[in-house]
Amino acid sequence: MNYDRILIRYGEMSTKGRNRHAFVEKLGRNIRYALHDFSNIRIKSTRDRMYILLNGENGRDMVDRLKRVFGIQSFSPVIKTGKEIEEIKATALKLFKQVYQEGNSFKITTKRADKTFFMDTDEMNHTLGGHILQNVPNIKVNVKKPDINLQIEIRTEAAYLFCETIQGAGGLPAGSSGKAMLMLSGGIDSPVAGYLSLKRGLEVEGVHFFSPPFTSERAKQKVLDIAAKLSERNGHFRLHIVPFTEIQQLIHKQIPENYTMTATRRMMLRITDALREKQEALAIITGESLGQVASQTLESMYAINEVTNTPILRPLIMMDKPEIIKMAEEIDTFEISNRPFEDCCTIFVPPSPKTKPKREKVIRYESFFDFAPYIQKAVEQTETILIKPETQLSNEFEELF
Ligand code: ATP
Ligand code: MG
Repeated sequence: MNYDRILIRYGEMSTKGRNRHAFVEKLGRNIRYALHDFSNIRIKSTRDRMYILLNGENGRDMVDRLKRVFGIQSFSPVIKTGKEIEEIKATALKLFKQVYQEGNSFKITTKRADKTFFMDTDEMNHTLGGHILQNVPNIKVNVKKPDINLQIEIRTEAAYLFCETIQGAGGLPAGSSGKAMLMLSGGIDSPVAGYLSLKRGLEVEGVHFFSPPFTSERAKQKVLDIAAKLSERNGHFRLHIVPFTEIQQLIHKQIPENYTMTATRRMMLRITDALREKQEALAIITGESLGQVASQTLESMYAINEVTNTPILRPLIMMDKPEIIKMAEEIDTFEISNRPFEDCCTIFVPPSPKTKPKREKVIRYESFFDFAPYIQKAVEQTETILIKPETQLSNEFEELF
C-alpha cells in the first residue's frame, strides 16, 4: 500500500480573500518548478488545500524540495480511499502495518469535514482503533503520546489517510507579493535579508557591486554561490552585476575622505534604483541592521536614503548579529559568506568614516562633480545572469514512503 498523493496545507494565504486564486496559482507553479523533473505528477488545488498526485513517482524524493517552498504550512503523504467503512478500515490497516514497528503505540484521529458522514469522530476512532487492535498483535493505544497517529479525514469526495505531518517553510508563495531588488554583497547579512524577502512572497532580483581588480573573481564567485542558494527557493535567481570600480575611484578623487563611505552608498542606491526601474520592481531590499556599522546608523540612513523615495525594505533592521548568523546557518549561506574575500566596500572604506554624516554636506560634496554619466554607464554595463539551483536530494524521510 503506497501513498498516492501528497496533501499540501496552505496556512496563511488561505485567509487572503479575493487574492486567494492568485496565491494558489503561484504556489502551484512554484511547486511544479521545485518538482520539475518528476514528469508524471499532477497538481490539483481546491479552495483550502492542494494535492500532488504521484502517479507512480517516488514521493520520498520530493520531501526535501517541498520543505523549501514558501507558502506551504505543512504537508502529508496520504492515501485516498472511498467512504465505505469497510474500505476505510482495510486501507487504514494496510497503511498502519506499513509504518508499524514492534512495540509502537498508536491512536486514531478522525476529522470530519463532511458533516453528513454516518459516523461521528468518536465512533470512527473506536471502529478503526478496534480494527487495528484486532489485527495487530500486542499493540497498545496511547492517546497522549502515540508513536503512530493514524489520521483520517472524511471529506465530501473521499476519505484521506495519513500518519505524518511535515512542517513546511511557511510564508507566502515566492512572487505573490511583487518584485524587489536585493542589494546583495558577499557578506552574512544580505543573503538572510533575501531569504526573508522570498519567504514573504517577494520575487527577488539581486544587485551586486563589483570592483575589479580591487575585488577578486573569488569574491564574485561567493556572490554567485549565495545567489545559487537563494535560487533553490523559487527555482531561479536573477543577478545583476554592476561594474563599480570607476565610480569608486571617482568618489575617492572628488569627495572628502570622511564622506566617501556615505557617497559610495548613495551611488549604489542610485544605480540599484535605476536597475529597479528597468526591471519594473517596486522596492529595494538591503541587509542593514541598525547601528551595526558606520553606514547603518540612523544619521547615515537619513543621509543615504535621500537619493530615492523608493521603499527600502530592511528585513534585518532590528535583529542582533547573533540572530542573523543563526539564520544564515539555517539557510546554509553562512559558510559561503564567511569565506575571506574582500568586498568592494571593505576595500575603499576610509579609516574613520562619518558615523553621523550630514545630508547637506554630502549633497554639497557631490555637487562639485557630475556623477550622472558614470551612473548611467554603470547601469548600461551591468551584466545580468540567471542562476538555477543545484538541487540535491537527501533520503532523510525515507521511512515515510
Ligand atoms: P552584508 O553582510 O550584507 O555585507 P554588512 O554588515 O557587511 O552586510 P555593509 O557592508 O555596510 O554591511 O552593507 C550594508 C548593506 O549594503 C548590505 O547588507 C547590502 O544590502 C548592501 N551592500 C553592501 N555591499 C554591497 C555590494 N558589494 N553589492 C551590493 N550590495 C551591497
Ligand atoms: Mg558587507
